[in-house]
Amino acid sequence: MNYTSTRDNSRRVTAQEAIVQGISPEGGLFVPTEMPSLTGEDLLALSRMEYTQRAVWVLSRFLTDWTAEELAAAVEAAYGGENFESGDPAPLARLGEGQYLLELWHGPTCAFKDMALQLLPGLLPAAAKKSGCQKEIAILVATSGDTGKAALEGFRDVPGTRILVFYPEDGVSRMQKRQMTTQRGENVAVLGIRGNFDDAQNGVKAIFGDERMAAELSERGFVLSSANSINWGRLVPQIVYYISAYCQLLADGEIAPGEEINFCVPTGNFGNILAGYYAKEMGLPVKMLLCASNRNNVLTDFIATGKYDRNRKFYTTTSPSMDILISSNLERLLYLLTGRSDAETREKMASLRETGVYQLDEKELDALRREFWGGCCDDAQAAETIRETFRKYSYLCDPHTAVAVNVWEQYRRETGDTAKTVILSTASPYKFGDTVLTALGEDCPEDDFARLAALERVSGLPVPASLTALKDAPCRFPEVCEPEEMGEKVLAFLR
Ligand SMILES: *Cc1c(COP(=O)(O)O)cnc(C)c1O
Repeated sequence: MNYTSTRDNSRRVTAQEAIVQGISPEGGLFVPTEMPSLTGEDLLALSRMEYTQRAVWVLSRFLTDWTAEELAAAVEAAYGGENFESGDPAPLARLGEGQYLLELWHGPTCAFKDMALQLLPGLLPAAAKKSGCQKEIAILVATSGDTGKAALEGFRDVPGTRILVFYPEDGVSRMQKRQMTTQRGENVAVLGIRGNFDDAQNGVKAIFGDERMAAELSERGFVLSSANSINWGRLVPQIVYYISAYCQLLADGEIAPGEEINFCVPTGNFGNILAGYYAKEMGLPVKMLLCASNRNNVLTDFIATGKYDRNRKFYTTTSPSMDILISSNLERLLYLLTGRSDAETREKMASLRETGVYQLDEKELDALRREFWGGCCDDAQAAETIRETFRKYSYLCDPHTAVAVNVWEQYRRETGDTAKTVILSTASPYKFGDTVLTALGEDCPEDDFARLAALERVSGLPVPASLTALKDAPCRFPEVCEPEEMGEKVLAFLR
């Protein structure tokens, strides 16, 4: 299968090239030229398999230039062994009637980013070698908190790679910051920036678009790559768990073959929910994709009106991984909604860059609203949802997941839709101990590890070992810089 760019349909690259390059040279995102199909029979067959086998099946539909053995090895390295606490990388928990939580945070960094970033290091260096690249791969990441740690942990000491992560100094939780600044490994670096996530993401995009920088780095023996969710290698492992969740419900007799279900996704950069859209386009019986936002509700407004408008106040919320006003992966959806029109996608992205706004026409808006329902809630509502969910079901959710649960409740009230719904649970509550304890009305100790212990006492859910282990880990990366200095810092790191 070939890949093209959302901004230039004449481009043709292989999956390996798409993953190594991360972003197309003219600024577009790589997308497969065809949609692989998924039939009811496939789903029945997959429902008899384990997660790792389902993963190999799905990946092999998109990543046609890896052999089945290579994919199986990468999948086993990512999801097998002890990487994922519970054995099952993506277990389903039942909440109310017809309501399930897909827990995607049992990996080493306790957030759903592990699902892709444990796998990507098994794909990327081999792909670079195969496509004839002799250079060391330098991975740049802008993070709103979870991607950074997951990428660091995935690429730590992977031969032939270096990784540099930028995070907004005041835009991540204390536990997230601690996870990153204590990162182990010889090929890693972490820098805070004085700005928000969009500043970090724009800085990284500018470095990717800087030809002088590319030439300089090439001379030094490096090629830049991205582990951000614009990389196709981040998206494709996420398609797996939508399909797997459906198969699991089939296997458990919770749904009948062909039954349509909803997915409700706490959304920031639109990567996770876009993977759900791809699963649906392949043939997964999905009724609606519910796009849940926090107070940074640019996507809610977009789905309601067809106008994407980033000219608004940026809020720092208790769900920091969703504090985003430019949802990069939306570009891939626009491309598909406009009938794969590179011209229209280019135009909208130029408008976004120049004015901060673009507008769908009526036909495009109709198409969008047939697939997506948007909702949002603020920090107080999310806190109430944490408290109520725990009271009703003894289930503790993190603030991001709580936004999704809240939006699902709104959807149900407004539409009366009774289709079964899988809510994606994207982080362990322990990553956001202060918010969760406060929501439950408990005292919140000042010390990070006293918080973990307090939360364990209240919830009975064991503290993830990877977080306990941070207690004695020294801070290796205290440095903070201005967004304008990011280029220099990259050059200083890649000596
Ligand atoms: C990254 C993240 C999100 C948002 O996912 P996108 O793919 O950016 O839409 C939601 N919740 C958590 C915990 C995250 O880390």
